[in-house]
Amino acid sequence: ATPISVTVGIGRGAHDGVLIKDAEALERLEKIDTLVIDKTGTLTEGKPSMQNFKVVAGEVVAGEPEADLLALAMTLEQRSEHPVAHAIVSYAEARGSKAVSISDFMSVTGKGVSANIDGKAVLLGNPALLKEHAIAMQEFEPQVAAWQALGHTVMLMAVDQKVVALLSVADKIKANSKEAIAQLQQQGMHIIVLTGDNAISAQAVAKQLGLDDVRADLLPADKFRIVQELQAQGRVVAMAGDGINDAPALAQADVGIAMGSGTDVAMHSAHVVLVKGDLRGIVKARSLSQQAMKNIR
Ligand code: ADP
Ligand code: MG
Repeated sequence: ATPISVTVGIGRGAHDGVLIKDAEALERLEKIDTLVIDKTGTLTEGKPSMQNFKVVAGEVVAGEPEADLLALAMTLEQRSEHPVAHAIVSYAEARGSKAVSISDFMSVTGKGVSANIDGKAVLLGNPALLKEHAIAMQEFEPQVAAWQALGHTVMLMAVDQKVVALLSVADKIKANSKEAIAQLQQQGMHIIVLTGDNAISAQAVAKQLGLDDVRADLLPADKFRIVQELQAQGRVVAMAGDGINDAPALAQADVGIAMGSGTDVAMHSAHVVLVKGDLRGIVKARSLSQQAMKNIR
């Protein structure tokens, strides 16, 4: 039977927006010594806004290149649930873009999207996605690096193997992230930032939070593997994340912590849900665990 102090702890958590799904998770929380944490949508609000849309090659589709390319970008991203997709769609909608017809839409998790438009292969995603398709982008690297150094996430759009536009979005750090991270660090927690984003913008964000262990350019399988490796080293690992890309790592962690503001898949894979995505809930969950376990011992 579940000890009464555990039931009480779970009840208190629920009252404060920290949903602890099972007794074992509450019991394990106090033993966590390592927190791996996703960046976009977890440390940050996950509501990036468009910073730049720069056309670098025109006339790929009839009419005015900028408007047309923005319409293409919008059409692709309307089919994606990724936060950067929402940023691109809102920007395009505000400029009156009209959707075009597309086929063969594909979403490449952690990289971007692609489709066939008017017989042309259109790709929109991070530099890794373009590299995978062997698309030349050397000439754009200085611009990409300059935006990344500002903490932006940069994406490129290509039509028939040729880069046609550069896009950048930026995301705000959540108001309570800094306080939550500082408290966990004071408790001796080792914190590692895991992100599918690039190293330069990830470090720009981590630095503002006093975090220095950052692993960037990761795919969902990499996040999962890092959790496993830490566990193999004897660490007791919590993973916090919000996305589909975080689900395997959330399930593998000793305690998976999902943001209530995130995807359903992440919430299903986790043991704890922070209803409002407020990371101070991790501190709260740990203290509930310590209280409950003290009462049992
Ligand atoms: P994170 O770990 O930061 O939440 P993801 O693994 O979900 O990020 O995605 C990694 C990167 O892939 C994003 O930063 C973005 O550059 C690119 N990306 C993902 N989805 C899309 C999309 N729908 N459109 C364009 N780029 C995307
Ligand atoms: Mg995320």
